[in-house]
Amino acid sequence: MNWLTSFARPKLKALFIKRDTPENLWFKCKNCGEMIFHRDMLTEQHVCPSCSFHMKIGPKERFDNLFDDSDYDLIESPKVPADPLKFKDQKKYSDRIKEARNKTGQEDAIVIAIGTLDGLPVVVTVQNFQFMGGSLGMAAGEAIIKSVEIAVQKNAPLILVTAAGGARMQEGIMSLMQMPRTTIAVQLLREAGLPYIVVLTDPTTGGVTASYAMLGDVQIAEPGALIGFAGPRVIEQTIREQLPDGFQRAEFLFEHGMIDLVVHRHDMRKTLSRIIHLLMNKKPISPEELAKLRKAKAQEKTNGETLALQGPMEEKQASLEGDDSIKIDIEDVTRLSKLAGHTP
Ligand SMILES: [Zn+2]
Repeated sequence: MNWLTSFARPKLKALFIKRDTPENLWFKCKNCGEMIFHRDMLTEQHVCPSCSFHMKIGPKERFDNLFDDSDYDLIESPKVPADPLKFKDQKKYSDRIKEARNKTGQEDAIVIAIGTLDGLPVVVTVQNFQFMGGSLGMAAGEAIIKSVEIAVQKNAPLILVTAAGGARMQEGIMSLMQMPRTTIAVQLLREAGLPYIVVLTDPTTGGVTASYAMLGDVQIAEPGALIGFAGPRVIEQTIREQLPDGFQRAEFLFEHGMIDLVVHRHDMRKTLSRIIHLLMNKKPISPEELAKLRKAKAQEKTNGETLALQGPMEEKQASLEGDDSIKIDIEDVTRLSKLAGHTP
């Protein structure tokens, strides 16, 4: 590899990449063919207004949708050895990684951020399907472990948004090793008594569903998401039976008890907020208090100080007991607490 191929060529290519042209102002829904204006796409959070089809979105859109005021701090991805097997198929693995990095601007498939959700500090980790199919390799495995460590350190719940085709085959056994590693990491959250919420998005398959993606205290899925281990064709060939309609889709899994909730993207933020506040036994703060905190945070930033996520937020959190301002469904609490392994 010389500077011509590794440095000059990508720079030259970048010159010829199409800029935003008027045709990019309109998106076509893959499901119903409806044309959607780009500004509407943002307000609709990439959900088709006509048929409610949930399009794939990346970490930035997720974080913007979930965190208070779309304000969050990104956590640096952990470094791992690159291409340990010196793998090559039609293309070199190192080249594939480079391409994915250029395309997404990410180090690897998983991005971690910390911020608040209705005032409660929370770690949100997002798997990006655009980065080599969101595949689970060493870097992704390390990132999951780091998310857990940060959640434990900050005493914050972990929300993991999954999207993956499975393990990253170019890393062979090293990628498979991430399955037990991440499983053990999830156990650390359990020991710390912190909620671990999984949001399954389209598609979540393979080794990811065989490890951390199915270990949440509460398992949520977006409507229509494909969730499974092996694909339907492989299953049909193995069991020699035709599979029912909608097999491995979120709604089907919900009906059969594999997941707890199917939540529309527009309701995701408030559902997650309700669940983590219930499980942490905290009350969501009022908009006025949120505004105050926002001011304080802006002040801190201008003072060049780092945000102490714990301090000011904790004080604002009152106990749930004796407060009539929020209505809690007792069944909801019991069910969620059971799921989380806590006694209500
Ligand atoms: Zn549509």
